[in-house]
Amino acid sequence: MCRHLAYLGPAVALREVVTDPPHSLLRQSWAPRRQRHGTVNADGFGVGWYADGDPVPARYRRTGPAWADAALPDLARVVRSRCVLAAVRSATDGTAPGESAAAPFAAGPWLFSHNGTLPGWPESVAAAAAALPVAELLAVDSRTDSALVWAMVLHRLRRGAPPGDALAGTVADLAAHCGGRLNLLLTDGASITATTWGDTLYHRRDPGGGITVASEPHDDADDWTAVPDRTLLVAGPDDLQLTPLKEPQP
Ligand code: GLN
Repeated sequence: MCRHLAYLGPAVALREVVTDPPHSLLRQSWAPRRQRHGTVNADGFGVGWYADGDPVPARYRRTGPAWADAALPDLARVVRSRCVLAAVRSATDGTAPGESAAAPFAAGPWLFSHNGTLPGWPESVAAAAAALPVAELLAVDSRTDSALVWAMVLHRLRRGAPPGDALAGTVADLAAHCGGRLNLLLTDGASITATTWGDTLYHRRDPGGGITVASEPHDDADDWTAVPDRTLLVAGPDDLQLTPLKEPQP
């Protein structure tokens, strides 16, 4: 399982969110503290962020472990952003390697990450993904379960679903067809939407007003709040709502 995080708030250097905290996402690539599945997250990583006045985010993704990347410290020091989504990857067996398999996945203004697995993938997902046009299936970034989950989310977003409905609908479809672990994380630079379905997630609002949503706390401060399992989280600059997700119908 991977670890992921999103930040939304006053502009910060990427390093404040991704590499500097004592148990940062960078550190979580070799020493996660709350990870329930897998041990290290060394199969790639990615950071996505928004520049002021540009709705389309930039990404930096690499195929190797974050700790071995020579460019990440410089990039994290000089780039500042009001919204960041980052992930470190522990590849699921049978999925493709490489940069294109590392989150965040992106389209237009969106950045997306999936922390989890789809058991029996890809066969088990056929029914859940049946609504996807072939063109959208062919456009997936890589041959991984997470890229397919992103295609399902994007299909809904492109048809006008609000982000919360896009994530909740995708989780409901997948839970009904194949189950699995479905912690999803999505941003458009103005809000953060996330689900818990089988793994950990926390949120924190810092004194400056920024909100962080992360698989695990990146420091020992006591102001992190655990999100209950099977919950939809929707956070804006000043607000945060938690809604229980529907259990799959038998
Ligand atoms: N299924 C994801 C992948 O293979 C794994 C993400 C995770 O949570 N480990 O990339």
